Amino acid sequence: MSQIDNNKLDQIVADARRNADTRSKGYREISLKMYPWVCGRCAREFTNANVSELTVHHRDHNHDNNPQDGSNWELLCVYCHDNEHQRQLEARSEHGKGKDAKPEAATHSPFADLKSLLGKKD
Ligand SMILES: [Zn+2]
Ligand SMILES: [Zn+2]
Repeated sequence: MSQIDNNKLDQIVADARRNADTRSKGYREISLKMYPWVCGRCAREFTNANVSELTVHHRDHNHDNNPQDGSNWELLCVYCHDNEHQRQLEARSEHGKGKDAKPEAATHSPFADLKSLLGKKD
């Protein structure tokens, strides 16, 4: 009985894995059929010989968002794709720096010293 259940479970897991594989390969194939094989940034052209260096970028950076009309896909060469994601990371760390700077600036307020001086006089 449990042997049968295990086989069934294996079958379900195998099916799910195969479906996920098909889906993730699917959007690459669909987008390569949909768009010309040209990098969207540097305009480098690709052929069957080097199409493996052409990647599918997700405009909203969500790899699970794959509308069949291709609106979330952009074909980029591996270099431009790297740059695209690098810019995202830098934008995020710049944002973090700005946050840290604010409380530090507040402690340099001249009024803080004035208050303590006035306090001493009393
Ligand atoms: Zn490129
Ligand atoms: Zn990407």
